[in-house]
Amino acid sequence: MRQIQFADDMQEFTKFPTKTGRRSLSRSISQSSTDSYSSAASYTDSSDDEVSPREKQQTNSKGSSNFCVKNIKQAEFGRREIEIAEQDMSALISLRKRAQGEKPLAGAKIVGCTHITAQTAVLIETLCALGAQCRWSACNIYSTQNEVAAALAEAGVAVFAWKGESEDDFWWCIDRCVNMDGWQANMILDDGGDLTHWVYKKYPNVFKKIRGIVEESVTGVHRLYQLSKAGKLCVPAMNVNDSVTKQKFDNLYCCRESILDGLKRTTDVMFGGKQVVVCGYGEVGKGCCAALKALGAIVYITEIDPICALQACMDGFRVVKLNEVIRQVDVVITCTGNKNVVTREHLDRMKNSCIVCNMGHSNTEIDVTSLRTPELTWERVRSQVDHVIWPDGKRVVLLAEGRLLNLSCSTVPTFVLSITATTQALALIELYNAPEGRYKQDVYLLPKKMDEYVASLHLPSFDAHLTELTDDQAKYLGLNKNGPFKPNYYRY
Ligand code: NAD
Repeated sequence: MRQIQFADDMQEFTKFPTKTGRRSLSRSISQSSTDSYSSAASYTDSSDDEVSPREKQQTNSKGSSNFCVKNIKQAEFGRREIEIAEQDMSALISLRKRAQGEKPLAGAKIVGCTHITAQTAVLIETLCALGAQCRWSACNIYSTQNEVAAALAEAGVAVFAWKGESEDDFWWCIDRCVNMDGWQANMILDDGGDLTHWVYKKYPNVFKKIRGIVEESVTGVHRLYQLSKAGKLCVPAMNVNDSVTKQKFDNLYCCRESILDGLKRTTDVMFGGKQVVVCGYGEVGKGCCAALKALGAIVYITEIDPICALQACMDGFRVVKLNEVIRQVDVVITCTGNKNVVTREHLDRMKNSCIVCNMGHSNTEIDVTSLRTPELTWERVRSQVDHVIWPDGKRVVLLAEGRLLNLSCSTVPTFVLSITATTQALALIELYNAPEGRYKQDVYLLPKKMDEYVASLHLPSFDAHLTELTDDQAKYLGLNKNGPFKPNYYRY
């Protein structure tokens, strides 16, 4: 099976940031939310009750207190949120139906650490319906929907999470999930690598007995590869981040949907006839440009790669250097994953009211630091919107201080999260049920056939009907009629 190689200069898995460094990782919206997405902010305010959930005695209606959430009384509201999410996550619901009777996760004891939102609740409840026992904590201290955590606790899931956890709470919650008398995890579902790190470091005996790790994020996957390279990964792990379906939906389609949402919520700008420059014509750039073009914007592209530049030309965009258009454009969007793509020099030359934002992973694509100089005034005009004012009165509209626009200022469609969640569920089933020897102590991609299965589970939402190969056609193409339909190197 193909494995992805990462550059040599990666941090070693064991060289984790110090506690303070860890704090910025777990707290930073851009870090963990770049890797994985939480759809909606919680409707409940973390400041509504000053007593820490750790100090409270709470029980659900069945008398269980095997959880720690903000307020169990919010369960009913959370249940409604989960039911709404279920409507756009029919693939998971159909997995539940297909597995009626046979329970592919019977005996699985899954310890999980993900965003705790209505969408992940649908995943967790699917895993339970497939026979697993689950204990869950949050991978981000801000993203928990308290009412959803309450609904999970009411339904009997051992969930330890609330919005606005402290650093100490964060690790305490993870520990409560792992360290339980009479219960030992045999599977890990992680998003960011914190849980894996905790089990690896604190409970090496548990770690050794884990049947498989499923990791969702770029960061967590990097760590697993480092661990594997150092010969310290003693269990098989599945990298779901690089599954084709997940990549396409997270990068291309999600950005096509959410770029406009983020821009409109923050600025109310109208795009018809506006001149927009998009830096980078990769998956994210292509998604952004398709949405902007559809609204009648005049879109320019900057690229370093001749292949992507040629693709942009074929799609009808002008490929330019940023300097050539910077004085005239109304909006600048970065999607390169690179740094200092928009420099102070560019910012100095922009016209009044130019909107500047970033859709790439790192908040260094726009050199925001260079704007923190005494001659420039910063005015916070709305949440996530700053006017940076030059001495002559010119204003540049900076969104989300250069962090990912869509994750900071809009929501991610439930359908995108459904793809990821279905991929995670199938990866867990595959690792848990794999015969001895199929997976060694290494990091694997989900088999292509299962990637195809994730896609096929989502087709009924569109009443899409697949054509079946005839025997003759299958023979002609050298394919199995049931897939996989493409070689691993195929570029979708
Ligand atoms: P990609 O590699 O497909 O595309 C990036 C493109 O930028 C490439 O074509 C590259 O040639 C080009 N590029 C690099 N440096 C450049 C420069 N200085 N000027 C102009 N072009 C330059 O990657 P992608 O999948 O499109 O992802 C881009 C970034 O967006 C990554 O950082 C990724 O982590 C992030 N991302 C964001 C979201 C989101 O929801 N906002 C979703 C997925 C990925």
